[in-house]
Amino acid sequence: MHRSTIYWFRSDLRLHDNPALLRSAAESQQLSCVYLHDPAQDAEVCHGFRRMGSHRRRFLADGLANLASRLASLGQRLHVLRGRPGAILPALAAATGASHIFCEEIAAPEEQAELEALRRAGLQVESFWQSSLLDPADLPFDIDAMPRVFTAFRQRIEAAGVTPHTTLSAPSTLPPPPSSWPALSQAICLDASSAGTSIATFLGADEAAADDPRSAFPLRSAAFAGGESAALQHLAQYFESDLPQHYKQTRNGLIGTTYSTKFSPWLASGALSPRRVHEALRAHERRLGANENTYWIWFELLWRDYFRFLHRQHGSRLYRAAGLSQRSAPPHDPVAFRRWCEGRTGEPFIDAAMKELAATGYLSNRMRQNAASFLVNDLVCDFRAGAAWFESMLIDYDPCSNQGNWLYLAGRGTDPRDGRRFEPLRQAAMYDSDGAYRGLWNATC
Ligand code: FAD
Repeated sequence: MHRSTIYWFRSDLRLHDNPALLRSAAESQQLSCVYLHDPAQDAEVCHGFRRMGSHRRRFLADGLANLASRLASLGQRLHVLRGRPGAILPALAAATGASHIFCEEIAAPEEQAELEALRRAGLQVESFWQSSLLDPADLPFDIDAMPRVFTAFRQRIEAAGVTPHTTLSAPSTLPPPPSSWPALSQAICLDASSAGTSIATFLGADEAAADDPRSAFPLRSAAFAGGESAALQHLAQYFESDLPQHYKQTRNGLIGTTYSTKFSPWLASGALSPRRVHEALRAHERRLGANENTYWIWFELLWRDYFRFLHRQHGSRLYRAAGLSQRSAPPHDPVAFRRWCEGRTGEPFIDAAMKELAATGYLSNRMRQNAASFLVNDLVCDFRAGAAWFESMLIDYDPCSNQGNWLYLAGRGTDPRDGRRFEPLRQAAMYDSDGAYRGLWNATC
């Protein structure tokens, strides 16, 4: 038992199915709950836009406010601090007398480097892998020998009958916070009395535009707000409905809130555990029946795991210009890239997608594929610039899924077809035959 520890929330903004938090609570007499906002998120990347755009800031602010109120119901407080982990956490540990830091493990290189910096600073860091559907220890292969192609990965898992672990309940009690807390600049404490507004201001989320009524993920409405409460409610509603019974048929839709599950923003911020999604899926299947449509939700969640495990396997190699290929650095055209970001390519199907993305922070999987292919194959731009724009814009930005999908489409990952070109006219004819999607987003320009 430690006298005092710090729980560092990362992309796991939840109390349910959070093994790291439970362990931290079980081993501590006093617990400090913190979330860090890295100033690098406020800086411009080399392409001239902020690393974290306004939609994700808004979703994150709501998620943190919700987490704070759930912690407050257990007598805890959430402290949100601005700074780099390697600079802030050692000072905080010294000030609170904390011997250990508990947190989740994230396979992406920057997130790994954060933990290394803490360990170099002499801190005892206990990190737990808890973001995937399947436990890496249950995989029927060593991570170093993971099948390179997704289909083989999935088939090996299914043949071995690997299933996710049962989820853990949220803690019913937590150790109290330390009686005194150091005075820190660049910090706010979210307790029971603080409203979402202060955290929104702190994160610079205030400037986010009001919800666009056309949004497929209207994050300003309570049903689509950031945080565990809305996530669990959405999960329950989705699986109580018969939408999963048609998922495979509707998932390539482009308009509206119901064509796909819309779980991704909550999964990416960790407000929702993928294992909890799986339990709800199986309960739905017991009630309404299992079929190809419900199977396809499992199938898509396996894609998410695949990119996570790929990061465990290859780490920073995935962030080289060549990715996993032998290809030379991709060409880039900054002017064409800017036109793509702004939805001014002149190709109405792609422009509609880019306008939707900028206006709402969300884009269907179909249009992400089209937009990415167009940038790489038609505009002959660097996929890394596209990945950076998606990172800035997407409310569901997740390093593993984003980098993995971009590499895949750019032919620098694990696609056996060596890259994919989506022909916009053909795609528009297949998925927007009546022009409703193009009309919806291009009408105002
Ligand atoms: P659904 O169709 O309902 O799928 C259910 C869940 O399965 C999703 O919530 C997601 O967790 C997972 N999933 C589905 N498709 C994929 C996929 N191709 N790769 C990984 N997981 C998948 N997803 C992110 O969560 N964050 C990202 O940053 C991200 N960047 C992407 C970039 C590109 C270029 C492309 C082509 C796809 C990207 N995706 C990303 C994957 C996918 O587009 C979204 O997960 C999906 O559109 C989210 O909507 P949904 O929850 O309704 O998905």
